[in-house]
Amino acid sequence: MLSLENQIVLITGASSGIGAACAKIFAQAGTKLILAARRWERLQEFAKTLNLPADKIHLLQLDVCDRIAVESTISNLPPAWSKIDILINNAGLSRGLDKLHEGDFQDWEEMIDTNIKGLLYLTRYVVPGMVKRNRGHVINIGSIAGHQTYPGGNVYCGTKAAVKAISEGLKQDLLGTPVRVSSVDPGMVETEFSEVRFHGDTERAKKVYEGVTPLTPDDVADVIFFCATRPAHVNINEVILMPVDQA
Ligand code: NDP
Repeated sequence: MLSLENQIVLITGASSGIGAACAKIFAQAGTKLILAARRWERLQEFAKTLNLPADKIHLLQLDVCDRIAVESTISNLPPAWSKIDILINNAGLSRGLDKLHEGDFQDWEEMIDTNIKGLLYLTRYVVPGMVKRNRGHVINIGSIAGHQTYPGGNVYCGTKAAVKAISEGLKQDLLGTPVRVSSVDPGMVETEFSEVRFHGDTERAKKVYEGVTPLTPDDVADVIFFCATRPAHVNINEVILMPVDQA
């Protein structure tokens, strides 16, 4: 197993769910964490629970959809934090489950801007440093929704199909360098995802999990950590992990 001691790991969407679970498992492995999200207080509260010394954690208030902010944040990282070894492109969301011909434009834009463009911006600004330093790993959080489409999933599934294509394309682009690219694609995970999808309607959100024992954020973080800790010559291209009882 590859040691991650003192490697710098940037996790987007680290204020809750899968991103927060990743922060916990990577912290236990002795990495230096850069945690990014928009909800600043929430991120700070979560960071406190990790109980890390100041030289092991760096917080960023960052909206991944804001290209200029992503560029300036990455290029202005303090020198001790600028050499990112692992980028976990996790920030993402789903909005609504409307039929396409009845869909909400704002919902579409949020999904496309966050899940596709946000992931592209981070990748575009972080990967050149990895190539220059001859080391690095990009781990994109896709979804089973990138492999199968469900009723009302139209645009969200489209964004996650794009993540799958982008991960495969990036892997091709980086052939000949030691930089690795993985896509971790879960089925249903119990996080705030459903509440966000239904704009805070908790009753509707709960119904999503009826009849299924969903994955936990830790289940997904374990798989992400597994990908990151394979020997340097091993690239896990793609992992699909599903609840046993999800079709
Ligand atoms: P959560 O809602 O718990 O977490 C989403 C995270 O993304 C939050 O930390 C949120 O932080 C962050 N985020 C959203 N938009 C932005 C933005 N514009 N800029 C920066 N951060 C942002 O859901 P999950 O943990 O479930 O979701 C994580 C990833 O997993 C997503 O990509 C999702 O598509 C994927 N996924 C989830 C599944 C599930 O069933 N839950 C299944 C398959 C994939 P903040 O609001 O503070 O910015």
